[in-house]
Amino acid sequence: MSPKRVLIVGGVAGGASCAARLRRLDESAEIIIFEKGPYISFANCGLPYHISGVIEERSSLLVQTPERFKQAFRIEARVDSEVVSINRTARTIDVRDAAGRTCTEKFDYLVLAPGARPIKPPIPGIDLPGIHTLRNIPDMDAILAQIEKNVPRRALVIGGGYIGVEVAENLHARGIDCAIVEKLPQVMPPIDWEMANILHEHLRAKGIAVWLSDGVASFASDGDFAITTTLESGRRVGADLVILSIGVRPDVRLAREAGLTIGSIGGIAVDPHMLTNDPHIYAVGDAVEVTNIVTSAEALIPMAGPANRQGRIAADNICGRPSLYHGSQGTSIVKVFDLTVATTGINERQARAASIPYSKVYIHPADHAGYYPHAFQMAIKALFRTDDGRLLGAQIIGPKGVDKRIDVLAVALRAGLTVYDLQDLELAYAPPYGSAKDAVNMVGFVAANALEGLVDYV
Ligand code: FAD
Repeated sequence: MSPKRVLIVGGVAGGASCAARLRRLDESAEIIIFEKGPYISFANCGLPYHISGVIEERSSLLVQTPERFKQAFRIEARVDSEVVSINRTARTIDVRDAAGRTCTEKFDYLVLAPGARPIKPPIPGIDLPGIHTLRNIPDMDAILAQIEKNVPRRALVIGGGYIGVEVAENLHARGIDCAIVEKLPQVMPPIDWEMANILHEHLRAKGIAVWLSDGVASFASDGDFAITTTLESGRRVGADLVILSIGVRPDVRLAREAGLTIGSIGGIAVDPHMLTNDPHIYAVGDAVEVTNIVTSAEALIPMAGPANRQGRIAADNICGRPSLYHGSQGTSIVKVFDLTVATTGINERQARAASIPYSKVYIHPADHAGYYPHAFQMAIKALFRTDDGRLLGAQIIGPKGVDKRIDVLAVALRAGLTVYDLQDLELAYAPPYGSAKDAVNMVGFVAANALEGLVDYV
C-alpha cells in the first residue's frame, strides 16, 4: 500500500499539532502543511507580551520553523502558501504562493485548521492606517513598527475581551496612555458583571480609562496615524494608535465554498472524531463548532488548548485510532496587571439562557494560610445545579493562587463532580501554598450549606 498523503491547511496550533501527531503514529505518511502567512507554529498567545518587551526576543515566539519541522519530523511546511480551493471529487486542493503561482495537490486526507479572523465591521474609516488587529506575527510587527516610528502617546483599544485587555496592559507598560472602549457593560464577557467590576476598578486604578456600554460610530484621520474615534454616545477620542479587538469569527470560507456543512452558529460542523461531512476531510481549532459540555449546545470557543487537542484527535482518526473530542468548557485565564482572572464552565447569563436551575455562592478565601506572609484574598464565584449540586461553572479573581484553583475546579466540572464532592477533595497543603481547608473545599462547604438549607445567603 502506498503511504497516505495528508495535507493540512493552517500551520499553527491545530495544524501543527495534527502534523506532529500524524508523524508519531505513522512513519511513512506524506504530510504537508500549507500556511498562508510567513510563519508556522508561532505563539499567538505571546504576541501581546512582545509588544511590551516582557517577552524580549521576537524569535522566542517562533516555536517551530519549516526547517526544524523537516529535520525533526520529516514534515514539509510550505509558508506563504494559501489554499484557495478544494475539489472534493478529485480530492485535490489548489495552492497559491506569494508570487501568485498556483499548483494542485492531491490528498487522501485533508485537515482544515484555518483558525478564526478578527471581526472588522463596516464602520466608516475602519481601514485607516493606524488601526490594527492582532492575530499573527505580521500584525504584531506592524504595531511595533508604528510604535517605533511615530512614538504614540495615546492608544485606544476597541473591545474589552482578553486580547484587548492584554494589549492595553502591554501598551501601558511601554508608557502609552491607554483607553478601552467596550460595547457591553463589562470587560471579559465570559465572567459575570459583578465579578468584572473588580477588573474595571483595577484597570482604572492602573491608569487605563474604561468606557463601557459604548461602541464605535466612526473613525476619522487627523493626519499621519492620528485618529479621532467617535463613539455611539457622541464622545470623541483622539489617539495615535488604535487596536481593534472586538472578537473573532471562524474562517469557514474554504469549507463553505467546498460545500462542507457549516453549523448553526457559523463554525465548520464536525462530529466527535473532528470529521466534517466529507469522509476525507477533518477540521479542527477556532474554525469549528464544538459542544459546550455544560449546556450541550453548540459553541465557538476559540482557545489554544482545544485547538491543539483537536489536532491530535484528527490525526488519531486518520491513523485508524478512533479518538473522540468530548466537548469544550471554556476554561481560560488572563493576567490583568496585578490580578489574574480565570473561569471555567458557564456563567449566570448562560445558565439562564439554557434554563438550567442553578444557585451560586461567593467566597473570599486567602490563597494560602493567613498567618504565613504575603497571603492575598481571592474572589470566587461558583455556580451549581440546585437539584443535584453538580458544578456548572466558576470564576476567580485575585493576585495569587487563582490558576491552581481554576484548574482543580475545571477538572471537577469535567468529571461531573458536585459541590458535595468538592468538600471531600484532598488537596495539597502547607502554609506557603494553601490552607488546611483549601479554597476549593470552601466552595464545597459554603455551597453544600446553602443546598442543605443550613444558611440563607443575602
Ligand atoms: P490559528 O492558530 O489561528 O492558525 C490558523 C492558521 O491558518 C493561520 O496562521 C492562518 O494564516 C492559516 N490559514 C488560514 N487560511 C488559510 C488558507 N486558506 N491557506 C493556508 N493557510 C491558512 N488562546 C488561549 O488558549 N490562551 C491565550 O492566552 C491566548 N492568547 C491569544 C492571544 C492572541 C493575540 C491571539 C491572536 C490568540 C490567542 N489565543 C489564546 C487563541 C489561540 O491562539 C487560538 O485559539 C489558536 O491559535 C487556534 O488555533 P487554530 O490552529 O485553530 O488557528
